[in-house]
Formats: sequence, structure tokens, C-alpha cells
Amino acid sequence: MRTRLPAVTAIALAAMAVVFAQNGPREVGLVVTGGTVVTVNAAGQVIANGAVAIDGTDIVAVDTAAAIAKQFRGRETIDASDQVVLPGLINTHTHAPMVLYRGLADDLPLMEWLNNYIFPAEAKTVSPEFVRAGTRLAALEMIESGTTTFADMYYFEEEIARETQRAGLRGVLGQTIIQFPVADAKTPADALARADAFITAFKNDALVTPAVAPHAIYTLDGPTLRAARELSKRHNVPTLIHLAESSDETKVAQERRAASPTAYLDSLGFLGPGVLAAHGVWVSEQDIQVLKMRGVGISHNPESNMKTASGIAPVPGYLKAGVAVGLGTDGAASNNDLDMFEAMRVAALLHKHDTKDPSTLDARTVLEMATIRGARALGLETRIGSLEPGKRADVITVSTSGARQTPMYDPVSHLVYVIHGDDVRNTVVNGRILMRGRKVLTLDEGAVIAEARSWAEKVRAAVKQERK
Ligand SMILES: [Zn+2]
Repeated sequence: MRTRLPAVTAIALAAMAVVFAQNGPREVGLVVTGGTVVTVNAAGQVIANGAVAIDGTDIVAVDTAAAIAKQFRGRETIDASDQVVLPGLINTHTHAPMVLYRGLADDLPLMEWLNNYIFPAEAKTVSPEFVRAGTRLAALEMIESGTTTFADMYYFEEEIARETQRAGLRGVLGQTIIQFPVADAKTPADALARADAFITAFKNDALVTPAVAPHAIYTLDGPTLRAARELSKRHNVPTLIHLAESSDETKVAQERRAASPTAYLDSLGFLGPGVLAAHGVWVSEQDIQVLKMRGVGISHNPESNMKTASGIAPVPGYLKAGVAVGLGTDGAASNNDLDMFEAMRVAALLHKHDTKDPSTLDARTVLEMATIRGARALGLETRIGSLEPGKRADVITVSTSGARQTPMYDPVSHLVYVIHGDDVRNTVVNGRILMRGRKVLTLDEGAVIAEARSWAEKVRAAVKQERK
């Protein structure tokens, strides 16, 4: 039976509730507090002794630690004292399971490396089990080194998607379309059907953005390139492609249309918003203008390009033209790791050296490439890439208390020129803590590494057999 409160008591209780709401801190899921907060917002705001309040999947406030403490009480807290708090890093180009080929073949030109080592190794070892084990290893490495979103192009992408969800990472995951028979598709038509089913299965997922990944112009004919692009347009999902990575690709384009790789794709009606082109090394001034005009995003992979001696992408030219440029590691077989802090440092140094101008790619621009500019290149800038209220809570913290990080005059400079992936202390994606105090919570580190080592034995045997 309900008892009715006297009117006066009810009014008093209501008044108390209002007072509490005004003065008492609101309970939220998580507060990251006490660190130097590098927001990467449009103003480049840095907050000394700052905090980030997170509720559910979203950032609700970014302010000084004192102001946040007044307004919010976290059910969980991360103490980020002596740390820098920043948006999770966005790796705009990788092939996650290829971590299992890390160091398998080095010091070779791109085409020799691909045709004589990687494609044969893949033909003998890629399977759903291989892809799952590789993705778990890659996810472990990414969580440990502060990557919270990755764009991927590989086979059995639905397996990669499921492992990504389990690990708690965010991914733009592209099912590969390639002309020759591969482990998950005998023909390009099979691959397109696979991509169609994959997109349908993962559309509207909180963490996974499904995508179509036509491999490159040198591994696909015109009709298949067109069909792949049509498929992603029909589902309104991103298209991921390798573009103008090596000079050999320019020869392929010229044989087909007497055009550059960019002009060739444009002649097919392929280029447009939603396309992320990895590398973009062999492009002319005119190509850059076409890419800008079509709203194509670029993934710059300096370490992979340097290691395969494929050339230097004209990043200052892209930036000047207003093209959205993100950073990537590429697969670990050509890098040989997934450390985005290293990618930032190498990008900054490479282009200074190349242009003989130390002001090229300053630290802030490079940090933006690994965060908000990467988000823009992937079409995700309204959701991720900076620490701002209303965005998804993808947040990392890095230690700045060691000898290598001391002293710290400018946290943005440190993030690019000093910090390593191993300095990451905490990784949060979509409001969920994936790593706390360097302990990964969503993967069993020992089991993941043991499983990867056992796969390496199979890879070694397969490659040995191939060379006989
Ligand atoms: Zn690649």
C-alpha cells in the first residue's frame, strides 16, 4: 500500500533533490584525473592537472581536475598523475594478422617481397584460425602501445571483426578483394559476395565499421575495381585500397590507360568520399588536386615505405592542398611493429630531412595525423580523434616520470619525439578500460603469445617447403 506524503514534506524532498543535483557531483562510469590532458581539439588545448569524465561510451567533460571533481564522481578512477592523457591513436592502415609474418622476410623490394615471400606464405598458412590468432596478437600489441582504432585490409575479415570486438578495440575493417584465388575466395566474385555478407553482419556495430578493401590496381582488373567500389557505395561503408605505393604501380597504370594510378582510378569513377587510399607515394601535383577534389583520405605509412624503399609520399603537398592525411604502420611484416608513436616520430623526421626544412611536419601536425586527421581520413571525426564532450571515450595515458621523459617543457613535443609505445599506461576504448597500469584486461597475454609462437612454426615450415 502506498502512503501519501503530506504535501509540505513532498515539496521539501523535491527541493532537496534540486539542491543535491546542483551541488553534488554526478556519478559517472570513469574519471581519468591528474594528468596533463592534451585534447587535440581545434584550439590545441592542453590542460595541466586536467581530467576527463566518461559516462557509458562517451566523454561527458574535459576540464581541470578540480573542476571535474566538483561536478563528477567516477565509479572507477584512473590516477594519471605524472602522465599525459590524450586521445587513443588511430592506425589508418594495417593488416592485423600479418604480425604472424613479423620479420619473416626483410630487406627486399616491395614486389619481390610480396610475390616471392608474402603471397606464397599466405597461400599456405592463412585460415580462419590463423587470422584469429594473428588478430589477437595484433590487438594485444595495439592495446599495449596506445592504438584504439585501426583500419584493416585482410582475409576472413569477419574473424578479425569478432576478435576486435572481444579485445574491445575499434576497427574499420575491410574484406579484401583480389583477382587471384586466395584462402577465403576462389574468385573476385566470391570475394565480393563475402564482403557483402560481412558488411550486412557488422553494419551498425558500436566498435566495427565494416568496409570493402579492393587490394590495389596491380592485383585487380578494372571491372572488379568498379564492382568493389559499387558495393561499398551501396552499403554506404568505406573503401580501403593501396594506391601508388611503388613505382611499379605507375607502370601498370600507364600500360592500361597511359595514366597515373590516381588518374586511372578516377577514370573508373572510383574516387570519392569514403575512399581511404594507403600510401599515395607516386602522385603528381595534379593527382593531389584530384584526390582533394574527390574527398579521398590518405594513409601515410612512412616506416613501411622507407623499409621497402618505395619512396616518400608528398605529405607536405597533401597537407597544403587540404587532403585529410592519417598515419599508419602498414602490416607488421613490413614495419616490423604496430607502434604508432614510432610512426609519428619517423614521419616528422622523414619529411624534415626530405624537404631540408625542420619546420616541416611540426609536432602538433604529426600528433593530429595520428589522431584527429586520421579520424577525418576515415570519416570518423565526429566520433573519435580528440578529447571533447560528446565523442566516444577512446583515451590513453602515457608515463612521463622516467629519465627519458625528464624534463618535460612541452607535452606535444614529448608525444612525438620522446614517448614510445611501451610508455602507455592505460588504454580506454568506448568507455571500457582495456589496459590498466599496463595489465591488459581483455586478452590473456601469455596465451596469445604462446599461440602466436606455435603459428610461427607452421609459417616457417610452409615457407621452407615453398623454396624447395
Ligand atoms: Zn598495406
